Amino acid sequence: MSDRNADGSVIIWIRCLELSFLTGPMPFRRLHSKLGKNRWKSETVERDRLFLRKLSVINYKDSNYLKGGRKMSILAAFMVPHPPMIIPEVGKGNENQISDTIKAYEQVADEIANLKPDTIVITSPHSVMYADYFHISPGTDALGSFGHFGAPDVSFCEHYDVDLAERICTLAEEMDFPAGTLGERDPELDHGTMVPLWFLRKKYTEGKILRIGLSGLPLSEHYRFGGILARAVQESGKRVVLIASGDLSHKLQTYGPYGYAEEGPEYDKRIMEVCAATDFGALLDFNSDFLEKAAECGHRSFVIMAGAFDGINVKAKVLSHQDVTGVGYGICSFYHGEKK
Ligand SMILES: [Zn+2]
Repeated sequence: MSDRNADGSVIIWIRCLELSFLTGPMPFRRLHSKLGKNRWKSETVERDRLFLRKLSVINYKDSNYLKGGRKMSILAAFMVPHPPMIIPEVGKGNENQISDTIKAYEQVADEIANLKPDTIVITSPHSVMYADYFHISPGTDALGSFGHFGAPDVSFCEHYDVDLAERICTLAEEMDFPAGTLGERDPELDHGTMVPLWFLRKKYTEGKILRIGLSGLPLSEHYRFGGILARAVQESGKRVVLIASGDLSHKLQTYGPYGYAEEGPEYDKRIMEVCAATDFGALLDFNSDFLEKAAECGHRSFVIMAGAFDGINVKAKVLSHQDVTGVGYGICSFYHGEKK
């Protein structure tokens, strides 16, 4: 749903499911569009999906994106969920019901630690989000804690990879793509970023991070943004791991906090099949009405990841999937085809 501010800029509202889970009904979070850049209106979100897919291909071929070929430099990517209750100080024992997810998450942390990345890029649905712009967190560092979830002592101090952020901004500008570090409204780390870090930092304290928000733009634009990210990583020559943070459906069980919808289990089944088969193009076939009814959280995060792997032979491994709380938690790893 969308609305406009007095100045004409677009407001979009999205579900903020994890927060409402803890604080009672608060189903939507107010978000504002970036001012100006009138070409990037949220109305484009509802374009026909086939047209979007076609548009995406055309944009790639017409851009500088593939000039000179492209080697894959993102070492690996991981689809992970971000339930705050997985943190023992927040879950207070409830985390035990998702022990398979915890086990898989520990494996992801081990694998990332073994890769020794210079930078961990995290795409988060709960970072700053605009209707018509991809926000990259600016500055040199950021703080965050689980204070909103009753655990203020679980806190983080992270350094941002300023160089990589600048490279992405430069490429985006060259391609006239709406992404950058403008308009930060909340510098605090969000739980979509901190839950993966909670697992990772126990095993790997090196490496800077880069935090990237999603947008209200069409899925095809998220895919394109993944390509820009991959190109920036390649040009940087850095060892980079990508974490696509996102929960699956929130409507998987009648006893869950958001109830049941038949689209819920269908979404979880489809997304896990798509990831297992690395059929990334199929991510663009999920229409917005279906995604809304399934009440997913991370789909656009996964689409950015898919875009970062565009044209690359990728080998996927499904590490876990759980639906016991009524919210879907899927964990998958993605490596170069020849690596794993
Ligand atoms: Zn979420």
